[in-house]
Amino acid sequence: MKAEPSDQKRLLDLQEIDTELDRLAHRARNIPEVAEIRRLDGELDELRNALAAAETALGDLDREQRKAEADVDQVRVRAERDTERLNAGRVGSPKELERLQSEIASLQRRQGELEEIVLDVMERRETAQARVVELRGRLEALTEERTAAEERRFMAASGIRDEEAATAERRARVAAEIPDDLLALYTRLREQHNGVGAAALRYGRCEGCKLALSTAELNEIRAALSDEVLRCEECRRILVRTTDSGL
Ligand SMILES: [Zn+2]
Repeated sequence: MKAEPSDQKRLLDLQEIDTELDRLAHRARNIPEVAEIRRLDGELDELRNALAAAETALGDLDREQRKAEADVDQVRVRAERDTERLNAGRVGSPKELERLQSEIASLQRRQGELEEIVLDVMERRETAQARVVELRGRLEALTEERTAAEERRFMAASGIRDEEAATAERRARVAAEIPDDLLALYTRLREQHNGVGAAALRYGRCEGCKLALSTAELNEIRAALSDEVLRCEECRRILVRTTDSGL
């Protein structure tokens, strides 16, 4: 293939732009905030589950407390009723009186026991309530952290998109200056060789595969016409002669 030396050099500019575009695409795929957001989402899930469990436990204790308080009330009302009967002097036999006094005493003991249960439930309820408050606080803080990370991710992504747009524009201008057949060869080689289709020959070395050319290869290149499109014997990429090729 033949191409003007200036067109061949332009190909190196295009290669540089394409490498930059590849680098930007890699950066877009690897924005650190994306991993951070994924991690935060995992933590948020766990926290929401823990909060749901804590709220359920608190609800259970609310019910338990109401039930324990109702039990106390029931015993207290009964003891009051008995005491009223006693005070009203409406009790018949001494045996009946003894029975009533003993029932009142037993009800008061029972009330004391039930009040202990209420206190115990209230204590556990307080602990559960504190846990719910703590988890809600952590959830709020973590949600804020995620929002901030999302904003940073958005800014990073739009920064990369802007750079990509400007670089793509530059690429279109440079690509338009390169003859079609040379561009087609470059495109094919770039696909085959890890994004690098054209490389400079610099100080006797191919910049594509980084290998030094043999004296025989260099002599061949010295003998070649300047508009001959050369290929590296090692990596088969287009090899472009430059002022510092060492020829
Ligand atoms: Zn090479």
